[in-house]
Amino acid sequence: MGCWWYNVAAFYGGDFMLSVQEARTRILSNFYPVDTLVLPLEHAAGRVLAQDITAAIDLPPFDNSSVDGFALKATDVEGAEPASPRTLEVVADIPAGSSPEIILQAGQAARIMTGAPLPLGADAVVMVEDTDFKTRDAGSPTPSRVAIYRTVRRNNSIRRRGDDLHAGEIVLRAGQQVRAQEIGLLAMLGVDQMTVYRRPRLALLSSGDELVEVNTPLMPGKVRDANSYTLATLAEGSGAEIIRLGVAADRPEDIRERIDRAVASQADVIVSSAGVSVGAFDYVKMVVEEQGELDFWQVNMRPGKPLAFGRYRGIPFFGLPGNPVSAFIGYLVYVRPALDRLSGKTEPLSFRLTARLVEPLESDGRESYLRAVVFQENGKLMARLTGHQGSGNIFSLVQANALLIVPSGVKSLPANSDVEIWLIP
Ligand code: AMP
Ligand code: MG
Repeated sequence: MGCWWYNVAAFYGGDFMLSVQEARTRILSNFYPVDTLVLPLEHAAGRVLAQDITAAIDLPPFDNSSVDGFALKATDVEGAEPASPRTLEVVADIPAGSSPEIILQAGQAARIMTGAPLPLGADAVVMVEDTDFKTRDAGSPTPSRVAIYRTVRRNNSIRRRGDDLHAGEIVLRAGQQVRAQEIGLLAMLGVDQMTVYRRPRLALLSSGDELVEVNTPLMPGKVRDANSYTLATLAEGSGAEIIRLGVAADRPEDIRERIDRAVASQADVIVSSAGVSVGAFDYVKMVVEEQGELDFWQVNMRPGKPLAFGRYRGIPFFGLPGNPVSAFIGYLVYVRPALDRLSGKTEPLSFRLTARLVEPLESDGRESYLRAVVFQENGKLMARLTGHQGSGNIFSLVQANALLIVPSGVKSLPANSDVEIWLIP
């Protein structure tokens, strides 16, 4: 802590390293929301609103009953109890969806169903269970009189107009993602179409001569391409459209041909994995720089220390490390927030989760993202690591439900330390 630059940079053996936060800030300054379109309500789920929504009506739109019962004047049933009920004259039957025309007078009641409008003159509802007329069946004959067994206050079992929200209120903001509950609200407000951001287009490239497709037999020295699938799944979960560029061989022409396809498809962002370490066969940098620029950063992070970011023909370009776990974590730390910004999402209501370590752990002083299982014990979140933490070990990621974050500068933590965790998708 202490010095302001502590979280910005760290020097290791003379190498300058960016902090994760600084790398992310630099990256995010390149991203702005994509354009918008108008969609009907039934296609809006999962989209991000590009407009505020103002309620045109009150909700509920009218005073109504929250139970099946009898609408009455509270003063008429003062002191009522099972041994000395008050008997009222039933003058109307008000099913849901009707519009009562009566004005209730003293000594009168109206049978009323849940959601039906309260008649004028009534100021309380008593549910059928507290009367001598217990049937709830709509359409059953209304009694001419009803005995009420209890006292009620005014407004008992009444939902007043505007209790939930008022006409003129801004109820949803641009930048909010439309979930099932927003869809329901929009429907109740009569909003049948709205302006949303289009889905960002993310082009995905894997690269390396050793990579083969999932349905290809493994020849010596080959591994199957995992990152195309993992990263596509993550990005689809963030609402992106995926442009699959497949696996590029370690040849400049092949890499160029594929990322040019991303440009032709009007990608908003290109994400490649592998080929960003300083290997002799890493042609990604060369190809991108022919028609753009690519910075290679050493980020004070583990895994995922080498990170490339730049532009190819104007399109933001990420070069994530190739190891499947590094690519996954690099995506979550850098690409996901960039996609959120492209999608028009405003900052989510973020809260930090912490869990208690059940075992001591070692780190190397870089900001570390460790695979962990988080579970509950006596109401407290606990965390333990999921075995081998090598950045190629995808199985320990499969066993994990969280990433445990060890801050930079920390080399060991004793058991029972509180650590920050990210639940992973
Ligand atoms: P690189 O970043 O090219 O040095 O690759 C680092 C490691 O990740 C190597 O073992 C690669 O074989 C592996 N790797 C790179 N890309 C993928 C991929 N798409 N799927 C699975 N493993 C990969
Ligand atoms: Mg490679």
